[in-house]
Amino acid sequence: MNLAVSGLDGRTAEQDAAGVVNSEVLYSYYLRLLWQQQRAGHGCLPNHLGLYPLNFIWLSQRYLQSAHDVHGLDRGTEEGELREELLEMRRDEWQELRELLMQHRAHRHVLEVALAEIVAAGCMGGDHLWRDLGFTDRRQLSDLITLAFPELAARNNADMKWKKFFYRQLCEEGGHFVCRSPSCEACAAWHDCFGPEN
Ligand code: SF4
Repeated sequence: MNLAVSGLDGRTAEQDAAGVVNSEVLYSYYLRLLWQQQRAGHGCLPNHLGLYPLNFIWLSQRYLQSAHDVHGLDRGTEEGELREELLEMRRDEWQELRELLMQHRAHRHVLEVALAEIVAAGCMGGDHLWRDLGFTDRRQLSDLITLAFPELAARNNADMKWKKFFYRQLCEEGGHFVCRSPSCEACAAWHDCFGPEN
């Protein structure tokens, strides 16, 4: 991050630097949690969490090494390997979701890129997004999105289910994921998109 722009919004260079450190701590906490949950067999993420292999190796060495040492969870799972292949078949869709998230990232830390790619990979699963990411409840996912992709969190002011919300955004932007109705209020699938997510 370029600290040369510090002070433009009244913040000092020290405050900006502290913000970067805090963001790195928070984001790396989520990365480690997502990785541990995948290795424990929860959710639908592939072994590389949706990242390209070289990016995952970099991420792993930089942020997950101590988790490797402590938990010995460094091999991945057979299911995770199969999901790698399934993800490759849907990379175009993954790319659209990744770009949506990237357009609305908080720009606090480069780890938002990895988180966008992981969340996009979670959208390839068939369950609620928080379950497909291996979180223990929806709140964890909502907190992550609010932190890393705040504009999207603010836009979801009707508390739509996250996966449905992301696809709805793509639909509105002219993507290929067309909703069954022009308006949510008139849509027979309303409960699929807005009902309880638990
Ligand atoms: S309620 Fe219907 S129109 Fe609205 S996002 Fe869901 S499927 Fe699309």
